Amino acid sequence: MNLEIDLAGRRVLVIGAERLSRRAVARYRAAGADVERLQDPVAVTQAVLEAADLVVLVDGAPVDGQAPPRGPDGGGSLRGQCRRAGVLLTREAAAVEAGHVTLIGGGPGALGLLTLDAAEALREADIVLYDRLAPTEALAELAPAAELIDVGKLPGHHRVPQSGINDLLVHHALAGRHVVRLKGGDPFVFGRGSEELAACIQAGVPCRVVPGVSSAISVPAAAGIPVTHRGVSHLFTVVSGHAPLTDEEHLHLAGLGGTVVVLMGVSTLPQLVAGLGRAGMRADMPVAVVERGYSASQRTTAGTLSTIVTAAGAARCQSPAVLVIGEVVRVGLDLQGEAAHLARLTESLAS
Ligand code: SAH
Repeated sequence: MNLEIDLAGRRVLVIGAERLSRRAVARYRAAGADVERLQDPVAVTQAVLEAADLVVLVDGAPVDGQAPPRGPDGGGSLRGQCRRAGVLLTREAAAVEAGHVTLIGGGPGALGLLTLDAAEALREADIVLYDRLAPTEALAELAPAAELIDVGKLPGHHRVPQSGINDLLVHHALAGRHVVRLKGGDPFVFGRGSEELAACIQAGVPCRVVPGVSSAISVPAAAGIPVTHRGVSHLFTVVSGHAPLTDEEHLHLAGLGGTVVVLMGVSTLPQLVAGLGRAGMRADMPVAVVERGYSASQRTTAGTLSTIVTAAGAARCQSPAVLVIGEVVRVGLDLQGEAAHLARLTESLAS
C-alpha cells in the first residue's frame, strides 16, 4: 500500500532499539513529524499511546543483542492497545545495515598525501562525493566499488549548493550506503566540513571525520617555505581571503609579527597588501604566491609587500594559490638558493 499522509506536526511514536530505529526516526523527522522513540513496547502506557497520532513498530533481528520489540504479552497486545486508543499502528523494517558518512580530507592534491585511513574508507565506499581540489585522478582505483559524483561541478558546470551536498550525504546514508565525502586539504579548514557533519548529526546519520593535510602548511612547504623557523617566526596565522579583511583585522595581523598564510586570497591580494601597509607592516616584507601546489604546473611568484601586486599581476597568478607573508619566505628562498648553489658546485666538481 502506498499511502500519502501529511505528517507535518504529527506526533509519531517510534518503538525499537536506537540503532535499529535510526532510519525510521530520521525519515519521520524529515517528513516534519514530532518524533519520540521508546526502546521497548513494555514501557508503552495507554496515556502515551493516546497522545500519539501514529505508532511505528520497528521490526528487528536481534543484531545488537536486543530482542525484537514485543508487547507485555506478545506483539499482538500492542495492536490491541492501539486499536483501543484509536491510534494507527505501522511496522517498519529495521535499519540493520545502517549507512554512514566518512568526511575525508584528501590533502592538497598529491596522491601520496592522502592518509591511510582515507584510502581505507575510499576502498569501502559505495558512493564518493568529491570536490575539484581533492586528489581525484586515481579515484576510480581508490574507490573501485563506488559511484563517483563531482559536486564541485554539475553537468551544467554549476556547483552543487552546500545545502544540496548536505542533503545528498544524508539521503544516501539513510538508504544504507557507505558515503565518502572527499574534500581538498583538511575538511575543517575553510572546507564547510563542520556544516556537513552537523547535517549528518541532525539526521541521525553516523559520521566520522578523517583529517587531511591542509594546503595552509603543505603548499608553502611544496615551495620550500617553512611556516615557522626558529628565531624568525614562532607563529603563523591562517586567514581566508575570500572576502577582504577589516582594518581592525589588518592591525591585529600586522601586530602579531608572525607568518600570515592566506587561502583563497588571489583576488583580494591588492586589498590585503594595502591594508597590511596601512597597519604598519614593512614595505619590504617578503611575500610569496604559490599556485597549484603539488601539480606539474606548480609555480612560486615572490616579491615584497610593495611589489607583489605588480609581480602577481604580471605573472597572471590565479587560484588555487596560497599566499605567504613573512620573513619565512626569505628563509625558504635562501635555503633553495643555497641548495641550488651546492648542486651547481657538486656538478662542476664532478665534471
Ligand atoms: N580545506 C582546504 C582549503 C579549502 S579553501 C585545505 O585545508 O587545504 C580552498 C583554497 O585552498 C584555495 O583557494 C587555495 O587557496 C588553497 N589550496 C588548496 N589546495 C591547493 C593547492 N594544491 N595549491 C594551491 N592552493 C591550494
